[in-house]
Amino acid sequence: MTLDNILEEIKNAENIVVLTHESPDGDAIGSTLAMKLALKKMGKNADAIITEFPRIFKFLPGAKEVKTEIEPKKYDLAISLDCADLKRLVGRDLFENATKTIVIDHHGSNAMYGDINFVNPVAPACCEILIGMLEYFDISIDSEIGSDILAGIITDTGGFKYSSVTAETFEFTAELLRKGVNVSEIYERVLETKTRANFELLKRSMDRLELLEDGRVAFTYITQKDLKEVNAEPGDHEGIVENGRSIEGVKISILLRQRDEGDNIYKISMRSTSGNINVSDICYVFGGGGHPKAAGATIQGTVEEIKEKLLREIRKTEQWKH
Ligand code: AMP
Ligand code: MN
Ligand code: MN
Repeated sequence: MTLDNILEEIKNAENIVVLTHESPDGDAIGSTLAMKLALKKMGKNADAIITEFPRIFKFLPGAKEVKTEIEPKKYDLAISLDCADLKRLVGRDLFENATKTIVIDHHGSNAMYGDINFVNPVAPACCEILIGMLEYFDISIDSEIGSDILAGIITDTGGFKYSSVTAETFEFTAELLRKGVNVSEIYERVLETKTRANFELLKRSMDRLELLEDGRVAFTYITQKDLKEVNAEPGDHEGIVENGRSIEGVKISILLRQRDEGDNIYKISMRSTSGNINVSDICYVFGGGGHPKAAGATIQGTVEEIKEKLLREIRKTEQWKH
């Protein structure tokens, strides 16, 4: 079975690298740190690489041991976490040059680009997949690994509130509480804390938010000029798109983020409410993907052009017509 194969590859490898997706969120960071610490428990000193480490996650166990630069090296084994396709993976060359590759993920749109792919689209977070995996490997989840895993679960479930949450999510959290982990502190630090720059971006993007399609679409954007003016750092845009979704009547919330100064390329974030509109399918049309209720893509055009392109695709979906 796949888990046995993964364990065997880990045991056989001397040099292991752990990688995750660009613009890493709490699940990307949490799963990378938890995997690095778990490999240490298995006697493997792996390199974990995160080039853009959001400030708010720097308190998590193992964060200080992460490499922030990609150095060319031949690895026996590369493990990709929380990343649906190779083009979003940071350290893609290391992955492609590694002797063996493993993909562990929870995106339904995963391209299965590893030698071994362990993908569970119903898991609420990649971190939750690691719980069962580590138990299977007989690695005890101590409070450090547990805190990293919990950070990923809390951020990817919006604080235990998305429909993806499972009974196991709560059982695991209860177990951590019993071990003395300060769950509410982790919750506050990863979900309830805004950097000043995040707050300033929120103000600007809410000020220019438009309600389109009879109030069913919330649309807004952030430019590179905004990001510069508020001294934004990696991760400072996180959470903004969720604010549009919570407006009554909104079915889809859209946030555009300009990639570079002066260019017409934007990163798109889309969120839908429980109205069954699959935003991953819409983003897939533009070469992106994600989850049914949270997805993204990168699109070329001006803000107005992209808005029209997205609205055209949204109107095409069956669910939109009803
Ligand atoms: P974001 O809006 O960046 O928070 O992303 C929401 C979800 O969509 C996450 O699960 C991402 O992994 C996924 N996603 C974002 N951008 C892309 C992309 N360009 N291609 C594939 N999946 C993406
Ligand atoms: Mn992620
Ligand atoms: Mn995730």
